[in-house]
Amino acid sequence: MSRIAQVLLPLPLPEAFDYLEPEGMALGVGDVVLAPLGPREVAGVVVGLREAAGVNRPLKALISRCDLPTLPAGLLGFIDWAARYAVDSPGLPLHMALRGSRAPRPRPERRLIATGQAPHKLTPARQRVLDALTQGAASGVELARRAGASAGVVKALVLEGVLEQVLETPDQAFAAPDPERPSTPLNASQAAAAAALNALIAQGGFQPALLDGVTGSGKTEVYLEAVADVLRRDPEAQVLVLLPEIALTQAVIARFAERFGAAPAEWHSAIALPARRRVWDEVLAGRCRIVAGARSALFLPFRKLALIVVDEEHDGSFKQGEGFVYHARDLAVARAKIEGAAVVLASATPSLESLWNAETGRYHWLKLEARHGAAVMPDVDLIDMRLTPPEPDRWLSPPLVQAVAQTLERGEQALLFLNRRGYAPLVLCRACGQKMTAPDTDSWLVEHRYTGRLVCHLTGFSMPKPKACPHCGAVDSLVSIGPGVERVEEEARALFPEAEVAVFSSDTVMDPGAARELVGRMERGEIDILVATQAAAKGHNFPNLTLVGVVDADLGLRGGDLRAAERTYQLLAQATGRAGRAERPGRALLQTYAPEHAVMQALKAQDRDGFVAVEMAERKLAGLPPYGRLAAVIASGPDPEALEAYVRALAAATPNGEGVEVYGPADAPLALVRGRRRKRFLVRADRNVDLQAFMSAWRARVKIPSSVRVTIDMDPYSFL
Ligand code: ADP
Repeated sequence: MSRIAQVLLPLPLPEAFDYLEPEGMALGVGDVVLAPLGPREVAGVVVGLREAAGVNRPLKALISRCDLPTLPAGLLGFIDWAARYAVDSPGLPLHMALRGSRAPRPRPERRLIATGQAPHKLTPARQRVLDALTQGAASGVELARRAGASAGVVKALVLEGVLEQVLETPDQAFAAPDPERPSTPLNASQAAAAAALNALIAQGGFQPALLDGVTGSGKTEVYLEAVADVLRRDPEAQVLVLLPEIALTQAVIARFAERFGAAPAEWHSAIALPARRRVWDEVLAGRCRIVAGARSALFLPFRKLALIVVDEEHDGSFKQGEGFVYHARDLAVARAKIEGAAVVLASATPSLESLWNAETGRYHWLKLEARHGAAVMPDVDLIDMRLTPPEPDRWLSPPLVQAVAQTLERGEQALLFLNRRGYAPLVLCRACGQKMTAPDTDSWLVEHRYTGRLVCHLTGFSMPKPKACPHCGAVDSLVSIGPGVERVEEEARALFPEAEVAVFSSDTVMDPGAARELVGRMERGEIDILVATQAAAKGHNFPNLTLVGVVDADLGLRGGDLRAAERTYQLLAQATGRAGRAERPGRALLQTYAPEHAVMQALKAQDRDGFVAVEMAERKLAGLPPYGRLAAVIASGPDPEALEAYVRALAAATPNGEGVEVYGPADAPLALVRGRRRKRFLVRADRNVDLQAFMSAWRARVKIPSSVRVTIDMDPYSFL
């Protein structure tokens, strides 16, 4: 009896396609197969099987089964859930889940081994080479290095037949983490949180928890113990740790390596393809037990996922806004539910969504009250820029300059925080007043002095800074407006010529190696003043860093959306939280033009709970998240008329829904990106509304013209 296989393909298709199972293929759900699709052959996953009897449609037969293990049911369930949540094609999350399987495996390497033949003459150098082989086969270069011998010695041994070259595939396995290694003794508050977490893990099943403690309270130590507990309980259990930045990943990886005697597998954009393949294979085989990664690690094919940790859970970079639109924190909770696993969301400044879930009892709420040991929270003061302004074309006010000078005099370090990359966020022509923008995108070009280029941070477009204004032709008329980190660095160097000044941003720290290097220099005291974006705002402990100066505390509040105050509070609390990590007390100074603003007052008083209470009350009144839900529709296209016609038709087709309000269409604030015009709708709904069903029904009512692209963004974080 022949069968029909429903195969999900990693493409933006609405559903799985039916194929005939060839005789003898004996497929099961989760098998990866090669399917014909028009003229192409595409690898997809079997998501269902049924008898073909009674089906008289002509169906194409599958081509072959791919040489990959069966994908676990938990992953398939998660893909399905994620697609329903995002109101998008299940092929998109599947595409992410299969990404690792498409990477090439590490290639075999040439290595030397001993043939057993004795050398004619045994010099001391030759003896060292033979001895070095006891550490295992190695390349000629590596062997010479180990033996402290020249390449010639090794080569002669090969020519003589004492050594021979073989092709060996590098060992794929990750070193096994050992939970029994000595751990840091926890303080009372940490021990209580760790015990509570372990009790949840012992109960088993889906257990969501919010680990809430100020910066430096030792949240990492607590979740390391939860990881140890999971590893100990079940020799097959796997753990996923999600981290928002590569720079942060490095600090956390080092702590895992120390605690468990083996580094976790890393998964993020800076990891080379063969290394990704290794992680994917080993995770699927169940042999890789701890993965530390960026948001996309959530789509790895874990066999027995027992714990997910989302560190800095409030961080905006967990939201992916392009392609498949999702928030990794929310999907982490969903995956844990599907896998029957524990999930720990850790933060000093949790999102209002997570706090609400904790307050309403949906999440267990574990709190760490104070910094560990002698370290205390820094004193936070506001500098009113209206009263003590910087000199013209300068960005550091006299009180901040004085505080930096005092810090340096004491031999301590200062951090100047400005969440803006490059030299100046805007370049304009003094003669004609035109702002420099990208040719096909509605955003200002940011000046980067290191590279001498004007860069669009949205699309990556860049061009050399022109000598003459491209609009009016005036020569040397372009002026840089406002500061980025490079400009603050320039000012710091001018003010403190003796000091060692460095910049920490995604332009200066582009890979894990560079991050480790810069963090190392900071830890060793080789840097006096660090000028940094949010790349350095989190996760690091610099014991000699006692002053944090926030150059523009109001930055995130301008033109803000519903989360502007929340985000500003989170970012600045993290940044100021870098100060005073050890015995030396720390200080933070915030330069602001609005010292009376609730966010500034809350930061000064370090009254997170008070701030949250006010924010929550406002959100409740407006029915905004977490009290209501939002969704956005973004339609874009190169043809303004086709786009306009589509959004009008969509507006006219808005379904009536109780507890749902639809706003728009309106030009998006970023009205033109890469030559495509953009329009937006915003939908607000009460929590009890099935917003996914509403969105999906609405979209289905109007045919989408081929030139128009429509994205639904559930629970949007960006409104641009
Ligand atoms: P958080 O993640 O809450 O910001 P960390 O776990 O990074 O805090 O801890 C902050 C610093 O305090 C780190 O340098 C860490 O090694 C140290 N620390 C935390 N808990 C302990 C402990 N129980 N014993 C010794 N050092 C600790």
